[in-house]
Amino acid sequence: MRRSRARHIQPLLRETSLSKDDLVAPLFVDETITASRPIDAMPGQFRYPVNQIAAVTAGLWNKGIRAVLIFGVPKSKDSEGSQAYHPEGVVQQAVRRIKAETPAMVVITDVCACEYTDHGHCGIIGETKNGMDLLNDPSLELMNRIAVSHAKSGADIVAPSCMLDGVVGSIRAALDSKGLEEVLIMAYSTKFSSALYGPFREAADSGFTFGDRSTYQIHPGNSREAILESQLDRDEGADMLMVKPAGFYLDILVEITTLGLPVAAYQVSGEYSMIKCAAKNGWLKEKETVLESLTCIKRAGADLIITYFAADVAGWLDEKQ
Ligand SMILES: [Zn+2]
Repeated sequence: MRRSRARHIQPLLRETSLSKDDLVAPLFVDETITASRPIDAMPGQFRYPVNQIAAVTAGLWNKGIRAVLIFGVPKSKDSEGSQAYHPEGVVQQAVRRIKAETPAMVVITDVCACEYTDHGHCGIIGETKNGMDLLNDPSLELMNRIAVSHAKSGADIVAPSCMLDGVVGSIRAALDSKGLEEVLIMAYSTKFSSALYGPFREAADSGFTFGDRSTYQIHPGNSREAILESQLDRDEGADMLMVKPAGFYLDILVEITTLGLPVAAYQVSGEYSMIKCAAKNGWLKEKETVLESLTCIKRAGADLIITYFAADVAGWLDEKQ
């Protein structure tokens, strides 16, 4: 085997290489600030005010990043998450500005209500047989309105992250009925109830006031359920599927790639912050660790990788050439 690992032979035989086209950069747009604000739990990441987001995405474009995923922090919250579908909402404004500045940038929007509800859950809550919980069907109409308003603002892809049953089919029908057939749906089809989302809740201000999300996200130990979730979203008309988080769930990713649709993997905030924190202490080499983590996610079958390291990786890939 060592003949094939000679330094000059090795690059010819490499099975998996990262490319900038694989990467999606998540960005937080905050309507309540006027200057960018660092996110403490995610060193190197920021919340940006609406009037800076076009410049930030133009900068990413110039580095070779071709897709962004937008999360919004609204100026006010209520029980229904009404700012999430407001035509002048934070995401709607941000999408219009990005598209005006960099029309070819692929803009993906997170479709959920947890950043917009005062209780912090992903839709409409109410009393159920088992106590207060997220109500499934009453929340679907809310997701339709959010997705349609993002699409009308110029989003290329809407990404429902709420894990409501039937949400993909519901959004597809809503988009089609408004003449928005060209807008794609990236389903957060297999989303685990993970401890690794912790730093994100500071970033997007989406912590919840009671309970948790374990009644709508998948338990980390369940693989058949995880695959069924993605199958259902495929059958409802998703254009691409997703596994979230990425690094701890590569076995699931391998399975999801057999369903016939493109698959995204989301390297989540906790995965980012673990590497950042260890690197900051000198315990890991950041660049090598990041490139290894992403190469392994791609090796497992991801067609695209959503990662907070996107801008850094673009720079590192340039160094290599
Ligand atoms: Zn949510």
